[in-house]
Amino acid sequence: MMSLYPWQQNDWQQLQNYVEQNRVPQALLINGSAGIGKQHLAEKFAYALLCEYPKIDGLSCGECKSCQLLKAGNHPDFMDVQPEEDSKTKKLKTSIGIDQIRTLIEKLALKPQFAQYRVILIHPADTLNNAAANAFLKYLEEPTERTVLILVTHRMNKLPATIKSRCQKFTMIMPDRNLILQWLSQETSNAEIVLNLAQGSPLLAQQYATDEHLTQRRDCFNAWLSIAKQQSHPITVAEQWLKLPETTLLFWVSSWVIDLMRYRHQSAPKNLYHADLKVALSELAQLVNPIKLYAFYDLLLQSRQRIETQINKQVLWEEILIAWASLNRR
Ligand SMILES: [Zn+2]
Repeated sequence: MMSLYPWQQNDWQQLQNYVEQNRVPQALLINGSAGIGKQHLAEKFAYALLCEYPKIDGLSCGECKSCQLLKAGNHPDFMDVQPEEDSKTKKLKTSIGIDQIRTLIEKLALKPQFAQYRVILIHPADTLNNAAANAFLKYLEEPTERTVLILVTHRMNKLPATIKSRCQKFTMIMPDRNLILQWLSQETSNAEIVLNLAQGSPLLAQQYATDEHLTQRRDCFNAWLSIAKQQSHPITVAEQWLKLPETTLLFWVSSWVIDLMRYRHQSAPKNLYHADLKVALSELAQLVNPIKLYAFYDLLLQSRQRIETQINKQVLWEEILIAWASLNRR
C-alpha cells in the first residue's frame, strides 16, 4: 500500500492525536481543495483504525488479519460508499442514493465483527442526494458503537448544514508549493509547468505530467494560434477538438486568454499559466484588441456553465472558435 504524500505529515499527526487521546470522532469530515490527497489520507486513517498492530507512526502494518482482509477487499468492518455504476449506461451515477444509505444503516445495526473499530468511508460526501442525506442524518443522531464514519469532500458548500454540524471538521490546507515542486520533480522535468496547469493541485499536476497531456496542449495551442493568424478554419478545428475532454480544453483556452491579458498589462508578467508558450503569447498579445478579449473571456466563462448541461459540444466549440477568429480579423 502506498505511503502518505510528503505534505501530509502534519495532517497525519493530527489524526494520530485522536487515536492516542482515545477520542476518535464518530463522524469525521475531511475537507479541503481538490487534488491534495484527502481521499488517500482518509483511506490511510481507515486502514490504521482497523489494523490490529499499527506501526510506530500509526500507519497500518499491512500484514495482520485485518490488513489482509482489507487488501483482499472483503473486510467485514469496512465499507466504502461512493456513487455506484448505473446498470444501464455503465457510467458512474452522479449521486449516492437512498438505497445505498439504507443498506449501510442495516449493516450498522449489527455489531462489528472484529475487536477494533468499524470504519465507513463516504466520498464524495457532497454527492449524497436529499433522501440519502436525510436517512444518513437520522443515523448520525443515534450512531452505533465503535463505528467511525469518514466523509470526504472538496465542496463543503454542497453539503447540508445539518450534516456538517454533526461531524468533526478536519480541513487539509493547500500544501506548500516548494514541497509539491520537489515531489513532482522526481517524476517530471516540467514540474513548474504542470503545477501551473493544475492550478496548484499536486495530484492533478502528477496526472498532467505525462508527455501526452503536454503534447496535446501544445497541439491545441498551435491550432488556436493558427485560427488567430487566419491560417486555419474555426469549424475544422472545432471538429478536431470534439474528441478531447471539454473541461480541460476550456481551461486551456481560458488560461491562454488570461496569460494574454497579463501581457497586455505588463511586459514580463510572472506566474503565467503557460510559461513555456510565452514567446507566442507575448507576440499575440500585441495584436489583440483588449476590449474584445474581455468579451471573449466572458463567453468562455458562460461556456464553463454550459458544458455542465446537455449542450451540443460541436455547436459550443464552433461558437467559441468563430468568436476567436473574428476577434483576430484585421
Ligand atoms: Zn495490520
